[in-house]
Parts: sequence; structure tokens; C-alpha cells
Amino acid sequence: LSAALTEVAQNFGGKQRMTENAIAPALKSVRRALLDADVNLDVATALIDGVKRRSLGNEVIKGVTAEQMFVKAMYDELLDMMGGEVTPDSSTQINLYSPVSTLAYNSSSSTNKPTVILLAGLQGAGKTTAAGKLALYLQEREVDPDAVSLMSETEQKSTLASKLPKRKRKVLLVAADVYRPAAIEQLQILGKQVNVEVFTLGSDVDPAIIATEAVEYAKTNGYDTVLVDTAGRQVVDEELMEELRRVKKAVEPEETLLVVDAMTGQAAAFLTASFDNAVGITGAILTKADGDSRGGAAVSIRGVSGKPIKFVGVGEKTEDLEPFYPDRMASRILGMGDVVSLVEKAAMDVSEEQARKMQDKMVKAEFDFDDFMMQSRMVSKMGSMAGVAKMLPGMGNMLNNSQIKEVEGRIKRSEALICSMNKKERANPELLLTDRTARSRLERITKGSGLKFEDGLAFMSEFQKMRTMISRMAKQAGMGQGEQSEA
Ligand code: GDP
Ligand code: MG
Repeated sequence: LSAALTEVAQNFGGKQRMTENAIAPALKSVRRALLDADVNLDVATALIDGVKRRSLGNEVIKGVTAEQMFVKAMYDELLDMMGGEVTPDSSTQINLYSPVSTLAYNSSSSTNKPTVILLAGLQGAGKTTAAGKLALYLQEREVDPDAVSLMSETEQKSTLASKLPKRKRKVLLVAADVYRPAAIEQLQILGKQVNVEVFTLGSDVDPAIIATEAVEYAKTNGYDTVLVDTAGRQVVDEELMEELRRVKKAVEPEETLLVVDAMTGQAAAFLTASFDNAVGITGAILTKADGDSRGGAAVSIRGVSGKPIKFVGVGEKTEDLEPFYPDRMASRILGMGDVVSLVEKAAMDVSEEQARKMQDKMVKAEFDFDDFMMQSRMVSKMGSMAGVAKMLPGMGNMLNNSQIKEVEGRIKRSEALICSMNKKERANPELLLTDRTARSRLERITKGSGLKFEDGLAFMSEFQKMRTMISRMAKQAGMGQGEQSEA
């Protein structure tokens, strides 16, 4: 898709408004790219229509290109298609952090019926593996390790206390695949790995009876969650569906999750629709997303069935399960790094007037402390530094956590210093850089901010370097040239 979008850029040229003619070639190449990525035809058509609707007549925002605006429209459409707008409900969902991965659970306190999760899917899709992964996941605490490792301790505590309900569940795994040889043993091995008991009645008992007995066993033994691993076939067939219906009727699961191999591409759309029609599913788990699938399955599943992907399998090990984040998947499919946030940022925070002034200042190296503050606030609005770094192509792996922490600490110190400056100083960095009163001012400011004088000096030198760099970059990017030629 990225290649297609480069083509798009050439077609837009310097147009100020998105017109039917301007976007037609772009839409055509995106359509081709979607089909190449093995997206279902109906879904691709719906996507293209949506992108067109979103783009037409849009003014091109200052500071971003028409291409970037178009990519943003693509991204929004993809996001919607994959279930971006889900509002979590704290009473029925266990996971507020990642909307789409929320699992329903049995919240009625009158019965002690555990929450039942049924896993279905074709043979080899990864059901048994997913059962082990999910068992591990549900036993863990509800924490996004990426986000939390970068929070301050107080932030961590308040987030843990308020936003993130506990995920720690007592899980029972149920071996209800009685056909595949060694299926039970496979689940038992996984159960041992994740420290979860596996319920089995051997391979001569009807799966619906196994599931029913398992739920009874869970009730009397204090399990709150029952994960049922079922059998699969090579292809969708009525016998399999009938068995699933019977198991479902017997245990009334809160969730019936279809396990889908990402490598099946757009066939995933048909598969999901068939299972949903025949058995009724509540969502999907997309497995083997670590392979070189092209995103077709991820885009097609919800587009065709209306059912969300809740988790993604990204490897063979039990810890290789991630909640499904539609925004991350959309970015990955577009392979576009920070374009989206750039456009969002520009639309949200910078009025045209502001943008013009800022560019002017950048070119003339008049960038001051107020501007610095505004920029750094923008960055923090976009999320943590870690999140931002990950969005930049190639940056995700360049900074490790301690480096990011270091940068964040530095930004915090800078903000403290700027807050201790007076208005005049903020707008005139020269007073702190070259003026003869600079030293005494800086002494006052560092004292006021509770920092060491060396911290103040370090920030000033950094700021000066940055200002020069920004000016050079702005000139290179040709910013402010329009204004110059008009003047
Ligand atoms: P089932 O027949 O649906 O129960 O499928 P299994 O759970 O037995 O998995 C089939 C194969 O796919 C096994 O070799 C798994 O290791 C592999 N597998 C399952 N999930 C993933 C995944 O997310 N990534 C990768 N790379 N392999 C997976
Ligand atoms: Mg299996």
C-alpha cells in the first residue's frame, strides 16, 4: 500500500482542494493495493467509497499535504472497518484499556456460573494454541506493559486503581476436541506451561457432555472462567457446525470466538460469515499475524461479518497474544508511520494563522520558549514519547525504554524551567542566551524551578542547538517561501 500512496502523492501535486478528478487515480491505485493485500472485494469497494466520501471537498490543511490528508481518510476508514469506535462498558467488559479485546463475562451474582468462552475454527487455525494463550492472558493483571513502564509511579497507581480492572481470573481449560489424535495431550502440555488445570473426559465422550460437565466442575471448584477448545475440520462442513451448535446450547457461552489464520487472507471473510450464520460468534482471534500475511484478513473479517477481532496471535509461544488495537493494525496496513498523527495534530492544534506564524519563526530562528512549550505539549497530547517513537518509521527499535525515559525526563525538566521564566524571557530567548544578564537570570530560574544550575545551562545549550536545527530544516523544506515571494 505504501507504494500506491506514493503514486497518490504525485497525482495531487499542489492542489488546495480534494476534487473528484484529483482523487480518482489515487482511489484506483488504492483499490488495486487493497486487492493485492488480499482484502475481500466487497470490503475493498466499501472502503474506497468511504475514503471518497471523506476526502471530497476537503480543504487541504496548512502544514500537511493533500497526500497526507488522503492517507488520513484511508486510515479513518480502515479504523472504522476494523471496529475503531467501540465504547467500553465497565459493567460488562473486563478490559477498558483496549476496547476491541474486551470479553464479555457472566456478571450475574445470583448464580455462580462461570464465564464460558468457546473457541471454534478450522483445523490448524490455532485454536488449541489460542486456548493456552488466552488462559495465560486472563490470569495476568490488566496492564499494558508498554504504556505502564513509562508512567510515573503515581500515574501507574492511579491508572491501576481507576482505569484498569483486574484481569486475574481463575481459568479452567476444557479439552473438547475428541477427534484429532493427541489434541488432548497438546492442551495438557499447554495447561502445564501456563499453570492451568485441564478438564478432560477422554476422547470417547460427546463434546457437548464434556463441556457441560466441565462447567459443573468449574462451579464446584471455584473457577470463574472456562475456556473450551473444540475440534476443527479442514473445510467448513455441516457436521462440524452441528456439533458446535450443540456445545453452544449446552453451556451458553458468553463468548464464541472464531479462531482465524491471518494467512487465509480474504477467505477469512467467507469463513467468518459461515461460522457466524451457522453457529453465531461474538468475535474473532486472528492468529499467525507474525507471518507475512498482508492484512487482508484483518480488514475483511469485521467488514463482512460485523464481528470484531478481539485478539491477535503473534507467535507460537503462550505469551504471543495481544489485544487487538484497530489503530495499530490500520497503521501497520498503511505502513505510514506518523502521517496520521501529523494530520490530526495539524487539524486540531494549529490554526492556519498559528501555522503561518510558526513557520515564519522557524525559518528566522525566532523560535522561542513559548513555542517550545506548545510543541512539547502537542507531543504529549499525542501520547507518551514511547508511543510517538513507535509511530515514526524505523524509530520504534531505535530508542529503548531507558532512553525514552531519559528523553521524557529531559522534557519535564525543560518545562519546569520554562514555567519559572517570566513572560519577557519566554518570548526573548536572547535574554537567557546572549544577554549580559543571562547568567543571573538563569540562576534565578533554575532556583525557582528547583533544578540545578547545570540543568539550566544544559537546557539552554540544547535549546540553542535545536533552534538552529529547526531553522535549517524549515529552510530545507521550503517553508515560508510562499510568504517571501508574496512580500
Ligand atoms: P488447532 O488445530 O486450531 O487447534 O491449531 P493449533 O493450535 O494446534 O495450531 C496449529 C499450528 O499453528 C501449530 O503449529 C501452532 O504452533 C501454530 N500457531 C498457532 N498460533 C500461531 C501464531 O499466532 N503464530 C504462529 N507463528 N504460529 C501459530
Ligand atoms: Mg486443536
